[in-house]
Amino acid sequence: MTKTLTIQDFFKCFPTDEACITHLFELRFGADFACPKCGEIGKFRKLAKQPAYTCNCGHHIHPMVGTMFKDSHTPLAKWFYAIYLFTTTRHGVPAKELQRQLGVSYPTAFRMAHLIRDHMASVDGDPPLSGHVELDETYVGGRSHGITGRGAKGKTVVFGMLERGGDVMTRVVPNAKQRTLEPHIVRNVEKYSTISTDEWGAYHRLNKIGYTHGAVNHGKKRYVDGIHHTNSLEGFWSQIKRSIRGTHVHVSPKYLAKYLGEFEYRYNLRHQPHWMFWRLVESF
Ligand SMILES: [Zn+2]
Repeated sequence: MTKTLTIQDFFKCFPTDEACITHLFELRFGADFACPKCGEIGKFRKLAKQPAYTCNCGHHIHPMVGTMFKDSHTPLAKWFYAIYLFTTTRHGVPAKELQRQLGVSYPTAFRMAHLIRDHMASVDGDPPLSGHVELDETYVGGRSHGITGRGAKGKTVVFGMLERGGDVMTRVVPNAKQRTLEPHIVRNVEKYSTISTDEWGAYHRLNKIGYTHGAVNHGKKRYVDGIHHTNSLEGFWSQIKRSIRGTHVHVSPKYLAKYLGEFEYRYNLRHQPHWMFWRLVESF
């Protein structure tokens, strides 16, 4: 499926709290789940007015225990709808917006947003990158408006690695020095991959450590040099910056990695928007 999940599709699958709990139970325990107490298979039924199942023998199963919903008093239907929102907006969902749409308190919305972002990051994982990979750093936030470039004060440094036609991966890093960036490259980009960067000195050794490296000289206003450019990654950066400016106003450095994980998740599933939602609700 290449289409985005419509709101009609969503409510058809998850019209009620009951439907969401049933989904969770079936996903986690399944039809051939044997009761841990009596050993019988298929004797579970949903308890009325409780997010729990009971076996004929009286043994209870709480499908939310062991998931991100475990300590939550928020109805599961609201959680599922929040997840739906996270997977269908390009620019992310600020906690204020969740608060409005779900009718929950701001702290609840804030907590939900962070747990959903954590879930997105863990489901996305970090598969190694290969083929042709673009590397670049960017500077996010801070008060020093108008100051850009490396070493800008008060800004958070984010390092990005993007496989053309494949996944993007980001890391919040203390600085953009070679000894900071190189371990991330070695760990996440397969040897013998082709790498494109700009002329920043931190990348000068890449040819020596097993990569085919080419750089474009942005300082001399050269943005493409044969196959070498970092346009895909720069596109990803500008989308994040637009979104942070437009919807989140300010993201503290502490939470930036989580926001980045959210954007990575959507980017990495950009060719299967339908799956953006299903992959999350199939993996609690
Ligand atoms: Zn039983």
